[in-house]
Amino acid sequence: MSAELEAYRKALERAHEHSLAWLASLAGRRIGPTASADELVPQFGGALQEGPTDPAAVVDELVALSAPGLMAMPSGRFFGWVIGGTLPAALAADWLVSAWDQNAVLRFATPAAAAAEEAAGAWVLDLLGLPAASGVGFTTDATMANFVGLACGRRAVLERLGHDVRTAGLGGAPRITVLVGQERHASVDLALRYLGLGQPTAVAADSQGRILPGALAQALEGIDGPAIVCLQAGNLHSGAFDPMREAIAVAHRHGAWVHVDGAFGLWAAASPLLRGRLDGLETADSWATDAHKTLNVPYDCGIAMVAQPEVLRSEFGFSTSYFIQDDDGPGDPFERVPELSRRARGVPVWAALRSLGRAGTIALVEGLAANARALAGGLARLEGVEVLNDVVFTQVCLAFGSDERTRQVTRRLIEDGTVWMSGSSWQGRDILRISVSNWSTDDADIAASIDAVARALAAVPG
Ligand SMILES: *Cc1c(COP(=O)(O)O)cnc(C)c1O
Repeated sequence: MSAELEAYRKALERAHEHSLAWLASLAGRRIGPTASADELVPQFGGALQEGPTDPAAVVDELVALSAPGLMAMPSGRFFGWVIGGTLPAALAADWLVSAWDQNAVLRFATPAAAAAEEAAGAWVLDLLGLPAASGVGFTTDATMANFVGLACGRRAVLERLGHDVRTAGLGGAPRITVLVGQERHASVDLALRYLGLGQPTAVAADSQGRILPGALAQALEGIDGPAIVCLQAGNLHSGAFDPMREAIAVAHRHGAWVHVDGAFGLWAAASPLLRGRLDGLETADSWATDAHKTLNVPYDCGIAMVAQPEVLRSEFGFSTSYFIQDDDGPGDPFERVPELSRRARGVPVWAALRSLGRAGTIALVEGLAANARALAGGLARLEGVEVLNDVVFTQVCLAFGSDERTRQVTRRLIEDGTVWMSGSSWQGRDILRISVSNWSTDDADIAASIDAVARALAAVPG
């Protein structure tokens, strides 16, 4: 064996062993880290030593240094933010993506990566009931998938007015009004900032955070220039879905482009039980979702989908003399995402869907929602617990009386370490928010989590 190969073998064997040890520890370990970033920086840092370190020793050292600073995000008892775990096939495929080291830019240069991503994209469209001809790009995350959909909207609404944003930029362009629900995710605002579109106009929403179609219609009536409407499939707090068919029809009547931010909630469309809540979803112009949330693939993986693939390709594509481009086929992977060089991040999506199949994907999505209902039901039976939202998908918002008590119980719960749930505020109240996003959460996790909340409640007098 060559020295290089031997170095790979030893380092990868250490990584393999440590990875399995980490995964095995999840069942029993405390969820939160025990050291802060400030405490860890000096241990990781200091002056860089002069000479080399053996690669396998680097892996061992990295693991030893990291141990106190790891959050058990892949645990079935982690319910923080909206953070999924990792399916076995997706994790293994992700390792191969790194080992293969394909720069997934061109179909000609990396055909296996391109083919896996094209297949995965087609499966996702099919599962979500979206138009089969849509263009699909694999982005770093949903923020960038929102960016892609909104960029296509920007291009299309200006093109209709004879303004080519690719060549002319935004200078001299008619001002685009972007309408969003009052409870859109902050990353939508960020994507709009990147696009030079500024702050969006917020439209009123109902008690669950769903945009009000009447208020949307009224807002559109007051606009005579180009417009983009950004809807939401899956409210970060309540899990609620905007009324798609009605809101999209209202927006289209005014000639607006409709983008849907469905970072985690778009996957509800894969479930026959839940699909009704997204009725009309397929009539939008673009959609964004994450694979690293509900689908449980490793970070980083978002998915941008655009009904008119030629708009996507013309917005993100370009030609250059040194590429060998796919001029006659479906286009190159780079023509559907903001970046050029990138890992083949659609490959773990292919592996996740191949391992789950259609039935497994539906079971995954419905299982998350069933676990959210089980948690909400069990917690609602505890004295002093209020469930604030209609639990329609994976999100549960709780309060324990006053804001002060809710914050104290949340702090206790995090200290206890059995579970992780995030503090937040919603509709004027401090809350404890649960997001069920991990495929591996089971009945024992649910029971242990309810017990942990009960302990935290008992420790903080009402
Ligand atoms: C998580 C989330 C985002 C942002 O997704 P990232 O993958 O973190 O960029 C956008 N919208 C909603 C509704 C989300 O839940």
